[in-house]
Amino acid sequence: MPTEQQLNRVWNSLRRRNESLPKARIVAAPDKRSVTGCWVDWKADSPPLILVAVSDDPVVTLAALLHHAAHALSPDGGIGPSSHRRWHTREYRALAAMLGLEVSGSAGTITKLNGDSAERYAAELKILSEV
Ligand SMILES: [Zn+2]
Repeated sequence: MPTEQQLNRVWNSLRRRNESLPKARIVAAPDKRSVTGCWVDWKADSPPLILVAVSDDPVVTLAALLHHAAHALSPDGGIGPSSHRRWHTREYRALAAMLGLEVSGSAGTITKLNGDSAERYAAELKILSEV
């Protein structure tokens, strides 16, 4: 599993690629249900703490980080009203695609790297592959 230091190095690397991506402190979520990135207040004064589901597979971990990056870049946070079934907004889905993710599932919660992203994010995948 990647360390907290690796996760934060990757987040900062993504921030160098996209200047709009805010500061955050990334922590590995103890389990997938405790992931917070979908509901974080990205506009808070202090950098938010983001719990991210990590995996031994760097591609899966990077997809999780990019999922939260798309939330961070969404002006409305990327989440629609809770009563709305399709709660990852259309804006979120467009930003996720721009970041190199394929979004699926009726709520848009399932994201994975698209075909070209492994090459595009080779530097980040290398960081996550370090043991
Ligand atoms: Zn989400």
